[in-house]
Amino acid sequence: MSWFKRVEKGIVTPTEQKKETPDGLWYKCPECKTVSPMVEHKRLQFTCAKCNHHARIDSAEYFEVLFDNNQFTELDAELSSADPLHFVDTKAYPQRIVATQHQTGLRDAVRTAHGQLNGLDLVVACMDFKFIGGSMGSVVGEKIARAIDYARQHRVPFLMISKSGGARMMEAGYSLMQMAKTSAKLAMLSEAGIPYISLLTDPTTGGVTASYAMLGDFNISEPGALIGFAGPRVIKETIGKDLPKDFQSAEFVLEHGFLDFIVDRKNLKAQLTDLLTMLRPASEVLIETLPLQRSLRTAGTA
Ligand SMILES: [Zn+2]
Repeated sequence: MSWFKRVEKGIVTPTEQKKETPDGLWYKCPECKTVSPMVEHKRLQFTCAKCNHHARIDSAEYFEVLFDNNQFTELDAELSSADPLHFVDTKAYPQRIVATQHQTGLRDAVRTAHGQLNGLDLVVACMDFKFIGGSMGSVVGEKIARAIDYARQHRVPFLMISKSGGARMMEAGYSLMQMAKTSAKLAMLSEAGIPYISLLTDPTTGGVTASYAMLGDFNISEPGALIGFAGPRVIKETIGKDLPKDFQSAEFVLEHGFLDFIVDRKNLKAQLTDLLTMLRPASEVLIETLPLQRSLRTAGTA
């Protein structure tokens, strides 16, 4: 005798109505191997509920985390790379660019946008690691430079979210020039008295660390992020000594004075709001509180 008896006869479910588990429903933490529903992982802004491991996310997710109602105006969205050196490795560089654009839906390794964070205007430039390792080519440098100009002209604070393997090999010297260009633009932003916050995420290395990522009025990071210039193997070979534990982790870098603080992604928006409110020019704050002061005065309380 069978264990289960079909009571109703003749049930025929069409294929399209058959229920299957969709892909990407679960997330497995690479750190502690805990499995959690994708919905829950997303609700925690892609951090692990158990060990707080911060998964790498892209510009689309950061914009969603930061901008009010995910509303923003993207700047220079169409900018795309040329091939000044006619560079060929396993593929010709233009082919690699087109293939990566198709695969990722991105134009290059950074997106820049203007929006509001809890009602405060902010220009954000956010790198995408999945576009050739978040490498800094001339488009990355140019988009960041233009976003800084935009922030300076509109007098809006600037936030840079870095995530990069460094300079882009296929653009060689042109990549390295972006370090000088973005640094010069940041100096102009600083002279204009506009705040610049740099958020270093996992990983931030090479020429990006050596230029705009470390030039913030505040240099902040996410927990556990890899931050460094050269790779640990190169350093070990150069100095001929073993490297300390957690070398190049955000916590190590903070302890050695290169970061101002580490922020949990779940508190990122709130902490940036506090920071930006604190950095607002006194003139703006005065204009806003003026009507309040006036009404208090009419009421005879001030
Ligand atoms: Zn975990």
